[in-house]
Amino acid sequence: MKTVLITGGSRGIGRAMVELFCENGYKVAFTYKNSESQAKNLAETMGAVAIKADSASEAEVVEAVKAAENALGKIDCLINNAGISSFSLFTDLTLEEWNRHLAVNLTGAFLYSRAVIPGMVSRKRGRIINITSMWGIVGSSCEVHYSTAKAGLIGMTKALAKELGPSGITVNAIAPGLIATDMNACLSEEDINEVAEETPLMRVGLPSEVARAALFLASEGASFITGEVMNLSGGYIM
Ligand code: NDP
Repeated sequence: MKTVLITGGSRGIGRAMVELFCENGYKVAFTYKNSESQAKNLAETMGAVAIKADSASEAEVVEAVKAAENALGKIDCLINNAGISSFSLFTDLTLEEWNRHLAVNLTGAFLYSRAVIPGMVSRKRGRIINITSMWGIVGSSCEVHYSTAKAGLIGMTKALAKELGPSGITVNAIAPGLIATDMNACLSEEDINEVAEETPLMRVGLPSEVARAALFLASEGASFITGEVMNLSGGYIM
């Protein structure tokens, strides 16, 4: 049976991925930080394993990967999904907010990847999928910290794809546009409609649509794809 470790699986896109991978016969472990009851309910409903771990903590990531390997036997696929965002003028950004965004959105992916790669290399196969953002490609005003972290994730994806290709491991990224999750709860209906109107497909995306792209990148169908950044923005950026 194939296995997957998904970071930030308690809500939103990560939750949709936990559900879809379970429905498609994967053994799934996922991490969460704060949403304990949602994580536990999801784990129970789907038969997945929930692990509490802050992506920004090296010690917690190391323990989370050990727990996932114990539960799953091995990790065939890692999905670095956990993320945070906030809005701030660049000149108002505190060093703390800047560091927190880089730590969760970028360093977390480094820590998880570094922890799972030795097992993948020894098996000469593996998949790493990084959830970046269209803002990592085109930049977002008042989200310089977020855009910087997500652009860093794209650099990491491409460089790591080159380094791990000879070991039979693919590394890809998905760059979603606006997806209907809690992350965008701060946006007004007007803001969301504005984005939808500027999107050729005339709507925002669904968590399940990101999950389906991840399922494809994890599948045999994607065996010759690596270093790719999949644009999943409904055409908002091209
Ligand atoms: P949500 O806010 O809905 O969910 C975020 C998830 O990440 C939660 O499960 C949360 O867990 C987890 N998480 C947050 N911080 C940490 C942490 N420090 N350690 C472990 N887990 C953490 O966000 P989305 O589902 O919308 O976003 C998922 C990913 O997709 C993110 O990387 C985001 O940047 C990216 N993305 C989202 C877009 C969108 O429009 N929604 C667009 C482009 C990219 P808990 O609640 O338990 O703390």
